[in-house]
Order: sequence, then C-alpha cells, then structure tokens
Amino acid sequence: MVTIMITAGPTREHLDDVRYLSNGSSGRMGCALAAAAAAAGHRVTLVLGPVEVTPPSGVAVVPVVSALEMQAAAVAAFASADIAIAAAAVADWRPAARQPGKPARPAGNVRLDLVPNPDIVAGLAATRGERVVVGFALESLAAGLGAAIARGRAKLVQKQLDLVVVNLHDAIGGEQSEVVLCFADGRDERLPRQDKLVTAARIVAAAVQLWTGRRAS
Ligand code: C5P
Repeated sequence: MVTIMITAGPTREHLDDVRYLSNGSSGRMGCALAAAAAAAGHRVTLVLGPVEVTPPSGVAVVPVVSALEMQAAAVAAFASADIAIAAAAVADWRPAARQPGKPARPAGNVRLDLVPNPDIVAGLAATRGERVVVGFALESLAAGLGAAIARGRAKLVQKQLDLVVVNLHDAIGGEQSEVVLCFADGRDERLPRQDKLVTAARIVAAAVQLWTGRRAS
C-alpha cells in the first residue's frame, strides 16, 4: 500500500465574490484516478477543485477553490505521500486583486490585471526526492500524434516529472479517454480509447511500479 496525492478539477480565480476565471474541467479523470487507487488498496488524498461530479468513497477529499489553495493543500498532502498525480486543470493566472462583493459593471471595455499562478506539479517535483510525480498534458492532435507526444515530453522535462500522461484532446469531458503514457526513461505506452476508470487503473499501476522499482534499487 502506498499513499497517493491527486489534484483534480479546475480552479477558480475570483475577480470579486461572484465573478471568476476558470478552466473547463469535469474532474472525472482525477476522480477515476482516486477511485482506481483506492480500489487497488492505496491510501488516497484527493485535492479537488469545484466540480459537479461526486468524488469516490474511500478517499480523503480536500476541497479547494483557487490555485493558491490547491497548491497549499497539495504541498501539505504530498509531505506524507509517496506519489503525486496532478490531474487538475489549474488556471494559468489569477487577478492581481480580488474585490469584495459584486462591484457594478463599468461601461465599455475592461482590462484585467492578471498574475501567473504557480506551477503546482513542478513545485512538487522540485522537492520530491525519491518520490514519484506524474503530470498530465492535454495536447491537440492537429499536428499528429508524434507532435502531441513531443509536446508532452517537453513538459515532462521542463517540470521534471517521472511520467506524463498525454491526453489526446478529443477526450475532454467524456466518460472515455485515450492517452499515451510517456515515461522519463523514454518509453511510450499508448492505451486504447477506453473507460476513464480502466485508463486510471493503468496510470496508478504505472506510478506504483515506478515507486517500487525506485525503492528496490
Ligand atoms: O503546462 P500544462 O498546464 O499543460 O501542464 C499540465 C500539467 O501540469 C498537469 O499535470 C497539471 O495538473 C499541472 N499544472 C499544475 N499547476 C499549474 C499548471 C499545470 O500543477 N499551474
């Protein structure tokens, strides 16, 4: 049994108490990962942004709203975890300031002052030591599968991940997914288009394998 921390869902970056910036993300893949990990007998903490789906039972859920909240919760949970899997669709920016209440809509165009959010998974990877860190990359197939894998691999290197799951873009929001697992040692493993729970089980098993292999060596 290992301890796995999973981030999932979108984040919301509030302009005021009502308006926010966010990403489209159902949280389904992250919840499938949590369900698969729990079913395999692992201890799971799911750091979950605002989603409609009900998280699986048997996992500890830490609900968060913003990227900064998600980062704090993920860092805290990863402190006592063996594996991190980052499936969250973190907003790239947040408003420089949050206004209280719901300010009246000004006439005409509005310019937003946005500051970049931290890269949560890259931060975890920088402190991981022997632990395993897995990220996702949602890539368009427009330029072909090879190009999508190359962009995923660039993220693997840039964020110092052990494994990047390249999510082929036609999978968004559905019950099924089609992914390629790109390992840091150069191996690529393409999974068929299949139920997210089946894909999730393979991703969890691959991460656990990396962890046990590293401990044995
Ligand atoms: O760079 P990109 O957003 O495509 O990277 C996706 C991966 O990085 C996912 O694993 C996502 O959860 C993670 N990520 C993160 N924090 C961010 C942006 C992305 O953890 N601010």
